[in-house]
Amino acid sequence: MKVGVLGAGQLGRMLALAGVPLGLRFSFLDHAADACAGAIAPLTVGEFDTATVDAFAADCDVLTFDWENVPVAALAGTASAKLLPTRAALETGQDRWVEKEFFRALEIPTPGYRAVGSLLELERAVAELGLPAVLKTRRLGYDGKGQRLLRAAADLAPAFAALGAAPLVLEAFVPFEREVSLLAVRARNGEFRAWPLTENVHRDGILHSSVAPYADRALQAGAESQLRRVMERLDYVGVMALEYFVHRGALLANEFAPRVHNSGHWTIEGSVTSQFENHLRAIAGLALGDTAMRGHAAMLNLIGAMPPRDRLMTVAGANLHDYGKAPRPGRKVGHVTVVGADRAGVLARLAELEQRAA
Ligand code: AMP
Repeated sequence: MKVGVLGAGQLGRMLALAGVPLGLRFSFLDHAADACAGAIAPLTVGEFDTATVDAFAADCDVLTFDWENVPVAALAGTASAKLLPTRAALETGQDRWVEKEFFRALEIPTPGYRAVGSLLELERAVAELGLPAVLKTRRLGYDGKGQRLLRAAADLAPAFAALGAAPLVLEAFVPFEREVSLLAVRARNGEFRAWPLTENVHRDGILHSSVAPYADRALQAGAESQLRRVMERLDYVGVMALEYFVHRGALLANEFAPRVHNSGHWTIEGSVTSQFENHLRAIAGLALGDTAMRGHAAMLNLIGAMPPRDRLMTVAGANLHDYGKAPRPGRKVGHVTVVGADRAGVLARLAELEQRAA
């Protein structure tokens, strides 16, 4: 079976690395000739338009994506019949306001939010939600890009001038205790399996590190029921991540990612079946794998440039993943995972890795 992947970044690369042992074959489509999954499987360089995507998908048995901003219009042709997850998930997740409305319809609590199309609407939204608040572009935002924190009334006009060429959403700022995410997989027959909640630390809007399982197990059942509702409503097949703020001990949904997710990279070594393998099992119509953990796990992202490998690989049990990407400020170039029987030991090795990667 041949899997076509739209986007050839590190997520696509890790999908292929997980799928080859299952006997799957891969091909990638990306506009960048040096996209890092191209080192693992054939890469077609092209734009995401209907003709290119249809031609690319013609000799694939199933089509998926490693990038959630694939233009939905490019999936209007024959390729759409092979696409999993389906267009509805992409479409809903590509617009932050539509996504929040979707959560609301499913009775999933979110931070307060308002659509903003003008400075006047921004002023009204701030009057209703209060300050601080976060102004975000509705589309094409990721890793903290396209966002401004508003602290005082004087911040409104400059923030609107910077972002207001595009439709915006204003969100109440959440003074969260923690950020967590839930990853789950749904099969073609509707079977649903979730991994334990993961605790995430972001720096400058980019994921810095993840630790699983989240210490407070009491939130697991509620999160699973919410993500299951999201996936069922979208008739979703594959892996999805739902990112949350924990505020006053309760979950507020931030956003979902209709794909494998950075906060699930620890599942490669830390879980019986990784997010990458389970995504492939789901879209290929195979039986899902066990999502149980192999102890505690922690993952550190390597951002900007690869530190000297020896410095990381000499930490006990460190699993290094170098994506083979050229260095660039803010770019995810790799990650490293440690797994162990006790949480304290795993956290100590994470701290050691952080120090050595700095
Ligand atoms: P996002 O692109 O929406 O995931 O935002 C990136 C990061 O910015 C989040 O993981 C949070 O650390 C922070 N952030 C975004 N929205 C809010 C909010 N409404 N309140 C507090 N922090 C936020």
